[in-house]
Amino acid sequence: MNRRNFLYSLPAISASGVVSVSQNQSLSNVQAIATWDNQSALQGCDQVLTQNGYALDAVEAGVRVAESNPDDLSVGYGGLPDATGKISLDACVMNELLRCGSVSYVRGYAHPVSIARGVMEFTDHVMLVGDGAEAFAKKKGYERRKLETKASKQAHKEWKKGASSNNHDTIGMLALDRQDRLCGACSTSGRAFKLPGRVGDSPIIGAGLYVDGKVGAAAATGMGEQVLTTLGCFHIVELMRQGSNPQAACELAVNRIIEAFPKSADQVAFIALSRRGEAGMHARYEGFKVTILEAGHIRVIDASHTQ
Ligand code: ASP
Repeated sequence: MNRRNFLYSLPAISASGVVSVSQNQSLSNVQAIATWDNQSALQGCDQVLTQNGYALDAVEAGVRVAESNPDDLSVGYGGLPDATGKISLDACVMNELLRCGSVSYVRGYAHPVSIARGVMEFTDHVMLVGDGAEAFAKKKGYERRKLETKASKQAHKEWKKGASSNNHDTIGMLALDRQDRLCGACSTSGRAFKLPGRVGDSPIIGAGLYVDGKVGAAAATGMGEQVLTTLGCFHIVELMRQGSNPQAACELAVNRIIEAFPKSADQVAFIALSRRGEAGMHARYEGFKVTILEAGHIRVIDASHTQ
């Protein structure tokens, strides 16, 4: 048994009795992958890739589609607001050379993913937050937009009356271009009705997104506080560096979270893409969907789950 097979088949059983990995195989020949049913966003990514474009341009273009969609209640325009009714956005990008940019708590801008890319390209910082991120966006002329919609205001009203607040997602997207450059991006309005100022996993490099162009990439969705605690995406890429395939690495990262939060009912899920185009996806609970682009075709699949 070589080292890769050994790691893949490690039957680690935690204190909580969770078996580490299933026998699910990674998918191969994947050009791009996105969390949830994000077909139009992945089409935006595909358009760049098919024109022999750069993977970073592809993921930025794809994520911008989701950020513009008011029906996506957890990303960009029409996202779910914080406890005060205001929408604040988090996003980050990372390229094949370990360069990254990130913004958090950005209000009044249409495309935080592009502002995050601007932080990477025009500053020598990685992350800008709140007023500082907005001042940077204003100076660079990024598109302003009133983010609140009728639906997001209604959701806030209902939450104040006592409706469930368990509604949040992130678009995470990973792409491999024709020159084998691997890049990733993610964007979210974060946890619905969060405390103002709350930062989740999505804009934190290593938590909500991590890319190492020589190894692979991962993106997260779900309860950000849990992903932050285990630096889930960095964990996945390091497992891949040590020989795990992307599917096994996603399962191990989910199971680490289950060990840390054994009683939690919150969903957490990961996607991963290796530099050879093998993809993995796994969630804690049933219901996680993933959109993939393979051989020029886009399809939505159900991810495996542990519990
Ligand atoms: N991970 C996001 C956050 O915690 C939300 C989600 O993906 O459900 O901000």
